[in-house]
Amino acid sequence: MNCSHNIYIHVPFCVKKCNYCAFYSVACGVPDWEKYTNDICKELIFWSEKLGKIIVPTIFFGGGTPSLMPVTVFERIIKCITDNFDVLPNCEITLESNPGTLDGNKLKDFVSCGVNRLSVGVQSLDDEELKFLGRIHNVSQSLMLLKDAADMGIRVSADFIYGLPNQNEKNIVNMCQKINKLDLKHVSLYELTIEKNTVFGKMNLNMPNNETMANMYMAISDNLNLPRYEVSNYAKIGHECKHNQNIWAGEAYIGIGKAAAGRINIDGIWYEQKGHFEQFDVMNEKDRAVEKIITGIRTVRGVKLTPDVEKQIDFDWVKNHTDLINQDNEYLYATSKGLLLLDNLTLDLIK
Ligand code: SF4
Repeated sequence: MNCSHNIYIHVPFCVKKCNYCAFYSVACGVPDWEKYTNDICKELIFWSEKLGKIIVPTIFFGGGTPSLMPVTVFERIIKCITDNFDVLPNCEITLESNPGTLDGNKLKDFVSCGVNRLSVGVQSLDDEELKFLGRIHNVSQSLMLLKDAADMGIRVSADFIYGLPNQNEKNIVNMCQKINKLDLKHVSLYELTIEKNTVFGKMNLNMPNNETMANMYMAISDNLNLPRYEVSNYAKIGHECKHNQNIWAGEAYIGIGKAAAGRINIDGIWYEQKGHFEQFDVMNEKDRAVEKIITGIRTVRGVKLTPDVEKQIDFDWVKNHTDLINQDNEYLYATSKGLLLLDNLTLDLIK
């Protein structure tokens, strides 16, 4: 019997492309949901035939804009998963949402079909900023959706973007104070990065410099009333996203959808899924261990020092950089200073 696999379903459609977004998604009027559903189910069945009726601890619908999906599409996909896999009774089922595409009634239907965690793309608590970002909703729509979800008793997370042009630490303190008032148990705060081939990529924006960005990042942990558990994620203990935690800890996951990545384990051998269901390559032990370091070190708990991981770590470098990295029993973790310098630190840390 193969080990358990988390499932990620990619929903690649959006109403309109946001000005900063470089994710794979298309804004194309009305999607062909029938074809999409058939393709997703075909892919799920392909993997169930390869892996057997494996255990599924979490399912994550990411995008794009999963909340655009008709509930009947979601229902068919969930049925296909439960028919072909052993979905745990307490399986975490997350739906990412854009508040411009989801209201309380539709959410209620999603919840009755199995959604038990909603991630809401709030992005900003300022209507002018939302316009600037090219979002299709306003603040009150986001707040209404957060409230509806909380009233339904499901777990709720909100995404925010910081580091907009001309923003400084003071703006971030202010933003954190506003977020605290929402009494959320999970939030994600992502730094705005300007990518080519986006509307922002073609503008000459006056972005905060690295020092201001670092100060803003530190201001978040100082002012938000939720502890950080990963570089960009903050949650009350017990309210972390299980799906992401499992993946960061190196568990297997199946990515479903044309642009979805995955890490599959068949009979103990690891495979990297490459965007489409029949394309997957064997991963050697080193690549797999390096990947575990890269994801694990981004978490506050750190990367678990299993024998394969230990082989790839430069412990001499670690000993000389205790301001950036520390060891706690079987975990190696970045200090708050280390978290600010993760890209370089990861390069130095790996032999
Ligand atoms: S809704 Fe999300 S995926 Fe779609 S364009 Fe905006 S940021 Fe990108």
